[in-house]
Amino acid sequence: MTDGPKYGFDTLQIHAGARPDPATGARQTPIYQSTAFVFRDAEHAAALFNLQEVGYIYSRLTNPTVAVLQERVATLEGGVGAVCCSSGHAAQIMALFPLMAPGLNVVVSTRLYGGTVTQFSQTIKRFGWEATFVDFDDLDAVKAAINDKTRAVFCEAIANPGGYITDLDAISAIADAAEIPLIVDNTSATPYLCRPIEHGATLVVHSTTKYLTGNGTVTGGVVVDSGTFDWSANDKFPSLSAPEPAYHGLKFHETFGPLAFTFHGIAIGLRDLGMTMNPQAAHYTLMGTETLSLRMDRHVENALKIAEWLEQDDRVDYVTYAGLKSSPYYDRVAKICPRGAGGLFTFAVKGGYDACVKLVNALEIFSHVANLGDARSLIIHSASTTHRQLTAEQQRAAGAAPEVVRVSIGIEDADDLIADLDQALSKAAS
Ligand SMILES: *Cc1c(COP(=O)(O)O)cnc(C)c1O
Repeated sequence: MTDGPKYGFDTLQIHAGARPDPATGARQTPIYQSTAFVFRDAEHAAALFNLQEVGYIYSRLTNPTVAVLQERVATLEGGVGAVCCSSGHAAQIMALFPLMAPGLNVVVSTRLYGGTVTQFSQTIKRFGWEATFVDFDDLDAVKAAINDKTRAVFCEAIANPGGYITDLDAISAIADAAEIPLIVDNTSATPYLCRPIEHGATLVVHSTTKYLTGNGTVTGGVVVDSGTFDWSANDKFPSLSAPEPAYHGLKFHETFGPLAFTFHGIAIGLRDLGMTMNPQAAHYTLMGTETLSLRMDRHVENALKIAEWLEQDDRVDYVTYAGLKSSPYYDRVAKICPRGAGGLFTFAVKGGYDACVKLVNALEIFSHVANLGDARSLIIHSASTTHRQLTAEQQRAAGAAPEVVRVSIGIEDADDLIADLDQALSKAAS
């Protein structure tokens, strides 16, 4: 079984992309721990290298275990193809690479995972790329930031660190009008809670490190292509529309149609950038996807219960969870992520920086780590860790003010998590 709209999400998360192993009948997808794959004969090898036939050559490009995960995530997201890579940050570079060139820019939301802010504000400059940061709740500002050198718009569906919801329909309409793709990082939402392609996204990226794997074991990333963007409509995307010298003048869009971006990602991106996912990592992530919907339902149920409990607690100033009626993003939940606002939010502790540090130290079930989307509950005080190099003002703008902690609510017993927060808040207040 491969895909097909006739199957529901719970069926596809287990079966999409997988079939019994043709050699052994193995029901679970084997870990094809092999670097290279034998050509049938010289003609077969030539056809593979000319991209005339699809098959396995070398695991930097393609691997059968990784291919199952690619097909599974593409199916769950409603895309036509996907390319897995070594991490979420690799996926972001892989998504931008065919679109960008020195002197070009990407318009990005100010509400992003901290590491993405650094990648976009600092590191991509080394490639001659530029990122323009804009508040994506201000649609006029997003429009105004796009110019003739802009090649993509980038945001998160459920955005870090506060679990804010982006109005993807409004943002994709702006990208469409400018004839550029919208790239959505769907890590925090997962395709179970939000399907960005249905809201107009061209590309979806994930850190599979998080909820898709769901157990904090391996890093990975994926770029999913909707297959809907016309790369040849203008001359903005020559990597996909113009002749490619490394493949005898082949034009990716003309040759591969809706799969142009996916084929480019493998034949150029993985071939030359080498940000490959290994088959072990694909195996762990495939195991994770099988239970994605069950876990996400519990993450959402627990997050809402805990956010409501925190909001009524006197030791807490405010809670940012979009699933709370008090959230300015509450109305967007039904539209963008109808199955719930995810498991990520921030809350402000009365007593500020020092109280947050005491809270984090006193928690017993919650782990103090720089990660999210694990089965276990996680907490981080950004101001003393990931954001400690920033001024208090910059921390506030990033949603990581000194008095704020970010939690990633796990799938443990909600009552145990509340009891843990209760005892730690008492210690923080003393
Ligand atoms: C973790 C994360 C990333 C980066 O992914 P890595 O796998 O750590 O490289 C990007 N975006 C979001 C929303 C994340 O949570």
